[in-house]
Amino acid sequence: MNKNPKFFAGLDIGGSTLKAVVVDACAKQIGPLVEVRSLVKDGYQTTFDQLENALDQLAAGAGISRSDIAGVGLDVPAPSSDGVIWGRANLGDDWVGTDIRGQLSARIGIPVFMTNDGNAAALGEYAVREYHTARSLLLVAPGTGLGGGLVLPGGRVYEGANGLALEIGHISVPFREDDGEQPACSCGLKGCAESWVSLMALRRRLGIELAKPRWAAHPLNQTDAPIAEKAFRLRDFATDGDELAISIFKQQGFILGYAIADMVRTLDPGLVVIGGGLAETTFRDQYMEWIMEGFADRAWPVYRYSPLDSTKETTRFEWAIGGDAAAAIGMAYTARDLFQ
Ligand SMILES: [Zn+2]
Repeated sequence: MNKNPKFFAGLDIGGSTLKAVVVDACAKQIGPLVEVRSLVKDGYQTTFDQLENALDQLAAGAGISRSDIAGVGLDVPAPSSDGVIWGRANLGDDWVGTDIRGQLSARIGIPVFMTNDGNAAALGEYAVREYHTARSLLLVAPGTGLGGGLVLPGGRVYEGANGLALEIGHISVPFREDDGEQPACSCGLKGCAESWVSLMALRRRLGIELAKPRWAAHPLNQTDAPIAEKAFRLRDFATDGDELAISIFKQQGFILGYAIADMVRTLDPGLVVIGGGLAETTFRDQYMEWIMEGFADRAWPVYRYSPLDSTKETTRFEWAIGGDAAAAIGMAYTARDLFQ
């Protein structure tokens, strides 16, 4: 056995939780997943304290010394370029414009690779598929927003020249509300896919629908609960076959499929993975059918099945399987590839 075995850590900074894993040189996870609070609102130095805390716990759980960790993969819940967060972020103010990668690397004395959470989750989905895929992997993950990432065959994430690629939530879709207007997106633009396919979109759509006389007797109109809580309950209603909930998720799935069609036409990834919380819902088979309806509406048949063999998929659709730890795992695998 190598006298100085190397290990690689994946650190996934979320809005509230920081998840961390460590893998060995064979990409095998060593020890348990570590979770600590991310404290991102308290400034990046506070989160760095938590990152160090997580590294200590990782080393202890894996039975290694922290100095055995030869590389770190770090992902942040914000758009970043070259280790610097540049865009609107649900973080403390001092994160934006700071050389996060450089400062963290200097502080812990370990080289750091940094990317956004969508790219990290895509890498995680690639990693947990055990490198079996010879195709590119496009992750599309509806959550609070609509994130995603593209991993090329061989396991490298495609970030573009400046880390600005795959901002898929903000591609334009030609759908309009009942009043003929395109909904405003959190980014300041109108008509973004994210303004139809996200938790924020769900709240808006639910508010609009509940105001209609048709749904006056709906149980969600008999409570004073805030719209966020009503939207949260919508999945349970859909699970029970509720007509309003189904109609909202059906529209969301259709528009998601429609947007994916243009992504597939541009990227031809071969494998599309649908992530986000929907992967865990009981009505996900039905949701996938709505995605496929939207996809078929916009993509030529050749993007679904081979023209020579109608049973051979040209684009395969799968649900995410990496779970909560996918991003951290993807970051650890990438650190291992980069810093081995
Ligand atoms: Zn947008």
